[in-house]
Amino acid sequence: MQILDGKIVSQAVKDAIKIKTEAAKSAGKKTPHLAAILVGSNGASETYVASKVKSCEEVGFKSSLIRLADTITEAELITAIEELNADLDVDGILVQLPLPKQISEAKIIGLIHPDKDVDGFHPMSIGKMVQGLPTFIPATPYGILLMLEHYKIDTKGKHAVVIGRSNIVGRPISILLSRNAYPGNCTVTVCHSHTHNLKEICLQADIIVAALGIPGFLTADMVKENAVVVDVGITRVKDDTKKSGFAIKGDVDFANVAPKCSYITPVPGGVGLMTIAALLMNTFNACEQK
Ligand code: NAD
Repeated sequence: MQILDGKIVSQAVKDAIKIKTEAAKSAGKKTPHLAAILVGSNGASETYVASKVKSCEEVGFKSSLIRLADTITEAELITAIEELNADLDVDGILVQLPLPKQISEAKIIGLIHPDKDVDGFHPMSIGKMVQGLPTFIPATPYGILLMLEHYKIDTKGKHAVVIGRSNIVGRPISILLSRNAYPGNCTVTVCHSHTHNLKEICLQADIIVAALGIPGFLTADMVKENAVVVDVGITRVKDDTKKSGFAIKGDVDFANVAPKCSYITPVPGGVGLMTIAALLMNTFNACEQK
């Protein structure tokens, strides 16, 4: 069993971006600039945004963090996005989800200029991705592809089972794994909360992507020998032994599943780190494409 190490791979991706950024700056090009909007003060969202901003610094990008109160109206958030859309210095815009109830996430995502949609959630980005056209790929699925590529994992003709069908993870990774490219060319089964016989389906999988948000859901009896397991889940579970008061848990029962796998991602230290690396890639490309 080999660990798919998000620390190693994300660092390799970031190192490559840093070199390209320095070269671009030396050639007189502009510094890539990511603007993040954080609405409210949700603990997990604060952590995600902080690490995205820190990663921008690491690779030599400029970043802006726009903090807005969770009482903000939809109209006020729209104004903030329109300002960033119009700002010529801003290459990428990300709106940290979830948003407060009074704001429609779909409406907000749809208002980000597609050229600055570095999270890859805009319907135009998703549409292009489905058609295999060049576009911003949503950061978490993109990070998974980078991980599979780094470890040269054979995906052609494999049966991939994706658990979860969200717009940000399950749905896009299922489409990407079925595309006619590497990593891809898998036969993909998408499972969700209404799927019958999930265990039997998982037992047929050469590759399993678990993205449902239920800690420890994928157990050893659901995984065949030598499967590749990608754990996307990130759930905060109360843990008094930790200074923070919580532990981060994935969707896979890692201790019992890992011995059966050929490759497996840990949580933390797996897909989460790759998501940030992929976001930086998208931001660099957004700047280059200007
Ligand atoms: P979501 O809640 O939007 O979707 C969950 C999906 O799981 C749904 O499609 C649902 O049908 C399916 N599901 C729920 N219960 C199920 C069951 N019993 N059997 C089969 N399918 C079931 O979640 P999401 O936004 O896709 O996130 C999933 C997990 O991934 C969460 O833990 C989230 O925190 C994590 N996540 C991690 C990253 C990262 O960077 N690593 C990024 C995004 C999300």
